[in-house]
Amino acid sequence: MGIELDTGRCIGAAMCVLHAPAVFTQDEGGVVALLPGGAVRDEDPEVEEAAQACPVQAIELR
Ligand code: SF4
Repeated sequence: MGIELDTGRCIGAAMCVLHAPAVFTQDEGGVVALLPGGAVRDEDPEVEEAAQACPVQAIELR
């Protein structure tokens, strides 16, 4: 399983950062990014919540 981010779709709503602050962050433009080591926590329930909370489905878990 891995985390795939569609940065072109991200609107900077920050729901992912709220739900899983150890995994997601935002760059200077507000676009989602993974924190170092964040990808290894992709089976974390918080990550699943973050993916579900994203209003534009920019986080894909697979
Ligand atoms: S919740 Fe979605 S739109 Fe908001 S910052 Fe995260 S990836 Fe981007």
